[in-house]
Amino acid sequence: MSELTNLGIAALRDGVAKGDFTATEVATAFNAAVAEANPVLNAFIVTTPDHALAAAGMVDAARAAGAPLGKMAGVPIGMKDLFATKGVQTTAASHILEGFVPQYESTVSQRLWDAGAGMLGKLNLDQFAMGSSNETSAFGNVISPWRANGDTAARAPGGSSGGSSSAVAARIAAAATGTDTGGSIRQPAAFTGISGIKPTYGRCSRWGVVAFASSLDQAGPMARDVTDCAIMLEAMAGFDPKDSTSLDLPVPAWSDNLNDNLKGLKVGIPREYRLDGMDADVAKSWDDGIAWLRDAGAEVVDISLPHTRYALPTYYIIAPAEASSNLARYDGVRYGLRDLPDGAGLQDMYAATRAAGFGDEVKRRILIGTYVLSAGYYDAYYTQAQKVRTLIARDFELAFQQVDVILTPTAPTSAFALGVKSADPLEMYLNDVFSVPASLAGLPAMSVPAGLDRAGLPLGLHLIGRPFDEQGVLNAGLALERRAGFSARPEKWW
Ligand code: GLN
Repeated sequence: MSELTNLGIAALRDGVAKGDFTATEVATAFNAAVAEANPVLNAFIVTTPDHALAAAGMVDAARAAGAPLGKMAGVPIGMKDLFATKGVQTTAASHILEGFVPQYESTVSQRLWDAGAGMLGKLNLDQFAMGSSNETSAFGNVISPWRANGDTAARAPGGSSGGSSSAVAARIAAAATGTDTGGSIRQPAAFTGISGIKPTYGRCSRWGVVAFASSLDQAGPMARDVTDCAIMLEAMAGFDPKDSTSLDLPVPAWSDNLNDNLKGLKVGIPREYRLDGMDADVAKSWDDGIAWLRDAGAEVVDISLPHTRYALPTYYIIAPAEASSNLARYDGVRYGLRDLPDGAGLQDMYAATRAAGFGDEVKRRILIGTYVLSAGYYDAYYTQAQKVRTLIARDFELAFQQVDVILTPTAPTSAFALGVKSADPLEMYLNDVFSVPASLAGLPAMSVPAGLDRAGLPLGLHLIGRPFDEQGVLNAGLALERRAGFSARPEKWW
């Protein structure tokens, strides 16, 4: 039955519908794969094999009764532990939320269960989704299933959705949810040779998703290929009156309209993304991507996004500012941890709870955020960053008068070894250089695997589209996927 775990969303769903295998067989196979791999990879914080089996049982019963099956019927997935799941611990990989069991289900996860998916467990992540390597989790690092040639050093699965990327790449989940504030779907997808799309801001409801930076946070699928991403995004997206920033637009049938013929399409190559001293393999994979899109019929156009170089500093002001406000709710009163020293007053309880409950990176972001929002510095930092954010969005608006989609590398390097960047936050932040501009502008963007670098590690290509044009991004992604022919898989060592 283990070959079932090699299948992705479309193959599993169609196989269950045809009766080639049952949803219960699929869930059993994935549960076994999780039980074997998780002690090594640490991709899941909690596993929920019973949830996966119960969902599968309902799908099998529905099929036996001749009832219609959902888009994700019989597909076991991992749920990033940033989505509130009713009755199942939800921690955001933090100690402060350890033991928190929500009484409600996030809109996105509910939609996935309604579509027939089952939950294998809650996936590990960087604490409160702050990080690029999964090293900030209070539940230990996630390990990537990938290793460099001739090197057994543990590699970062990327972040913050590193449990998601590791589980999908290791074939212990058919797909997984991710969230992306500044790159957390795309960079981990690139690091692990899988696909992931962050849709237009507002496509997926944020209701029930632990908030990091509300004007940037967006959920999306992480899956084996572009088609699976399209199917899963259809199941996740849609208007939700419970999220005031949710887009009141119909969800297009992206998967039915996939088309890799790019005739008439213009692809922009932003010159500002060609950084000095760019990794040679990353530069080469970018050139490969350009050639593949040309081969698919697209016209390639040189474009300029002049404010790109301000994107990282802008993001690292706005995201911490919003985080410092969002995380104020963790006060020891309403959720999770409470540290109440003997004879302590309210302020002492807040301080003790936060000191014990937040990790170093989260504290750093709260401090930065509080500083840039403080009366004396608000205009100099926060207001200024908001203005630059507008200029960055305008760069894209102007570019999209000329081109339909933009191609860049996803990340400046392949997966680094755990530990090498964790001592230097700035070095870690630089990883987001290609992903944050699209986040600041709220644009749909996706990473698809492009090949392996000289160390035998995956590299991703990054497509950015117009607002609401997920279809254009997915189609260009499909064109890259078909031409890259990426079939490499991590060798099983766990
Ligand atoms: N790595 C970025 C950060 O640390 C992005 C994280 C994310 O998208 N959640 O903020």
